[in-house]
Order: sequence, then structure tokens, then C-alpha cells
Amino acid sequence: MTRDDGHGKSPVRERRRRNGVWIAPSATDFSCLCEHCLELARGEGGSFLAAVRAASVRGRLPTDTDVGFIHCAAGHELVVRRVDRPSTLTRPDARQLQLT
Ligand SMILES: [Zn+2]
Repeated sequence: MTRDDGHGKSPVRERRRRNGVWIAPSATDFSCLCEHCLELARGEGGSFLAAVRAASVRGRLPTDTDVGFIHCAAGHELVVRRVDRPSTLTRPDARQLQLT
């Protein structure tokens, strides 16, 4: 088990793929996988199960918060975004109110 206890933040270049997770509108507790940790674990040749365990992150986001940040065990930052309500479910009431 390798551990990177380097002080400070390693100059990891941000790729286009952002480390992030989407959660349901009513969710507060969530768990996700850190993509960086997954890639690192794969590179080390460990089993997939071990990789998933190493990359597993748990967090919590208050329901009134749309975006949050959490860090995995290795210190990677993950962006937590709350899924918006589907636009297909917009109520017609709004338009009716505008017409009055
Ligand atoms: Zn990570």
C-alpha cells in the first residue's frame, strides 16, 4: 500500500474531465468514487475491488446547497453538484401566472 504524504498540493494538471459527482435533489449523504484514485490504483496493478475501495469517498451535502467540495483520502478534490429538477416537469402554472 503506497501512501503519498507529500506536503502541500501536488501540481496536478487539471484535465478536461473534472472529478465530480451528481447527487439527487433530496440527497444529503452520498458516496462516490474518485476517478484519480481509480486510475492510480489501476496503474499499480491491484485488483478492481481494491481500486474501488481506495477510491471510495463519502460525503454530505445539505439539501439547501447546490454545489459542494469534498476530498478523497488522497486529497483529490471532488465537486459535488445537486441535480436540478428535470426541465420536462416544469409546471404550466408559471406561464399562466404571467398571462394574468
Ligand atoms: Zn482521489
